[in-house]
Amino acid sequence: MSRRIALVTGASSGIGKATAMLLAESGYHVFAAARRIDRLEQIRSEYIEPVELDVLDEDAIRGVVQHIVSSRGRIDVLVNNAGYGLMGTLECVPMDAAHRQFEVNVFGYARFMQAVLPHMRTQKSGCIVNITSILGKISIPGFGWYAASKHAIEALTEAVRGEVMEFGIKVVLIAPGLIRTEFMSKQQALLETVEHPSAYRKVIMGLRRLLAGESRAPGPAIIARAVLDAVTSPNPPVRHALPLDSKAAVVARWLMGPRIFSWAIRRQMKF
Ligand code: NDP
Repeated sequence: MSRRIALVTGASSGIGKATAMLLAESGYHVFAAARRIDRLEQIRSEYIEPVELDVLDEDAIRGVVQHIVSSRGRIDVLVNNAGYGLMGTLECVPMDAAHRQFEVNVFGYARFMQAVLPHMRTQKSGCIVNITSILGKISIPGFGWYAASKHAIEALTEAVRGEVMEFGIKVVLIAPGLIRTEFMSKQQALLETVEHPSAYRKVIMGLRRLLAGESRAPGPAIIARAVLDAVTSPNPPVRHALPLDSKAAVVARWLMGPRIFSWAIRRQMKF
């Protein structure tokens, strides 16, 4: 039987890499996209084709999707995953950095969805998995722009799910909590590029403390497994939050209400 065709973004490390490899092991032919082609070459196999791509380049994205459909005849799965986390206070993060966060995390996902949907509509099937975050439903100090980008993806995903349901296309959100990948070290490096006056010292210390918790977090395999479950299930959950911290945060925010939740977060960040 011919393999189903998947396109995974952000496949050069972390969640995207684990997902591309698991899908390939599970009977998919995977196009693995990212900017660092040398990293993608390390996972090249009979069933994983590296694609060098920047999610900011709309023409290149359309070209890649066209190439997949011309060469393979279809596209069954899109895993929108490429992204990064910008940290810093609202007062201090420069506007161009905030715009870039949305360009990658929000418009990047939208560009891929726009590119695959006409083909999925024509074939009357397909599955889009958008990787959001625990911060897709809650927000905490120092993560404002990142959380806003993930909230935006949650809103877009809910809308598009209703728009394409009748065409046989599934649209799923997977919302990871803290996962051990390159994400945190990149976040840490970006935080150091934002200049904060000493008045924000406690917030910045709190952020560093949160980032230090990454070593106790699970690896990306659990998210890859959730993606595989979503794409193979006839009726996947519309939003799958995992591991437990991601589920618990939404419940805690709902039970506590915004004021007490915000107090509890500041306590945890120790400021
Ligand atoms: P990594 O930093 O390990 O991987 C991020 C991937 O995104 C890389 O493959 C990177 O590839 C790619 N990427 C970033 N910017 C671009 C761009 N402009 N164009 C193309 N590719 C890009 O992080 P994770 O695997 O942890 O993150 C994956 C997703 O999971 C992100 O959307 C993140 O927000 C989300 N997430 C992660 C959590 C965590 O704790 N790790 C928690 C919640 C959500 P390259 O640089 O080669 O282009």
